[in-house]
Amino acid sequence: MYPHTLLSGTSKSFYISMVYRSPTVLIGNARTATIDIYDIGKFNNTPTLTQYNLCPQSILIHELYEQYYLQVVKGLKPLKAPACLLKHAHDNASQYESLVFDIMLQKTRSNIVSDKIIVEFTCAIDEDYKVVFYVHFEKGNATLVERVLN
Ligand SMILES: [Zn+2]
Repeated sequence: MYPHTLLSGTSKSFYISMVYRSPTVLIGNARTATIDIYDIGKFNNTPTLTQYNLCPQSILIHELYEQYYLQVVKGLKPLKAPACLLKHAHDNASQYESLVFDIMLQKTRSNIVSDKIIVEFTCAIDEDYKVVFYVHFEKGNATLVERVLN
């Protein structure tokens, strides 16, 4: 299920450009290999009262894995990945991100709807059990990450 390893078994290096509060990079841009560390830090913002909290670590793993996959596994330079490989990198990265988030939950959705990203995880053994977050953003930067309680 997880054919490639990011955190062990490799000494290959890859390129990452890091920005802070860039209006043109929301969380990360896999095509340009850019990460906005300000946005990633916003994932520390969720209330601790709920059982599940998105954390910067899982988001960072997602962004790093995408670049590991594109640059090390596929041997591509930034800006050279075709859309189909960007999607494949994103899907694989979501699996790694899910492992960091919760072993029993799989990320099943992350899409932009007007001023927020809707992020959904589904339980591996009960597909009716969902954990949903809204990542609000403004001018290309995350402003608030909240769990949507159902
Ligand atoms: Zn992605």
